[in-house]
Amino acid sequence: TEELLQRAEKLSVIGELAAGVAHEIRNPLTSIKGFAQLLEGNDFYKQIILDEIDRISSIVSEFMVLAKPHAVNYSSKDIGALLRQVITFLESEANLNNVSIHYHQEVEGQLKMQCEENQLKQVFLNLIKNSIEAMPNGGPIHIILSGDGNKAKISISDYGVGMTGDKLEKLGEPFFSTKEEGNGLGLMVSYKIIHNHGGDISVRSKINQGTTFTITLPLLKG
Ligand code: ADP
Ligand code: MG
Repeated sequence: TEELLQRAEKLSVIGELAAGVAHEIRNPLTSIKGFAQLLEGNDFYKQIILDEIDRISSIVSEFMVLAKPHAVNYSSKDIGALLRQVITFLESEANLNNVSIHYHQEVEGQLKMQCEENQLKQVFLNLIKNSIEAMPNGGPIHIILSGDGNKAKISISDYGVGMTGDKLEKLGEPFFSTKEEGNGLGLMVSYKIIHNHGGDISVRSKINQGTTFTITLPLLKG
């Protein structure tokens, strides 16, 4: 446990540093991109520059989510509503990949918690995107929200490539990715956000069968 704690502390310092650096990189990056788009001449080189700028941007925006807002920006939100917004946002990307997203809320009414809305949405987005990417030939994703008065539970299941034990152990390490275009930051950032919200995240996976991520989050009383 001690080792785990130290690791968590280290990650939080690294996270804050990274978020700070990301902020500083964003402005010059925006201006580089703007001027690169105006360049005339070799379209091939220009496209490489623009693609690589987009790559840096995606890394930067992943880290930016960790940045502390000016005042701690927690407010009471309905988890179901946040989930539905993210699912709606991802629907066209899912369709393009022959993936169907099935959402089910097991309890009636709202499940409210104190949270940083954009951070939680980023977590749902990262996990659902990973599920889409885990099914190159398409398939269903099942998302289930349940709650018991104290805690909400969200499970996200796919029928994709799955993971072996050694990969499961690496989940959440920065820059661990098995994807050509991946940056290996999504889960690291997601784990950190969930822990900052007093929640927990766990994974079950079977190679070539699929993966389920389960998140628990503390609910507001009443
Ligand atoms: P990225 O998506 O950029 O690779 P992530 O941190 O989101 O980075 O994920 C890290 C790695 O974890 C992925 O490259 C993949 O190997 C594995 N992974 C995450 N989610 C899933 C999933 N639902 N099914 C199979 N593998 C997954
Ligand atoms: Mg990812």
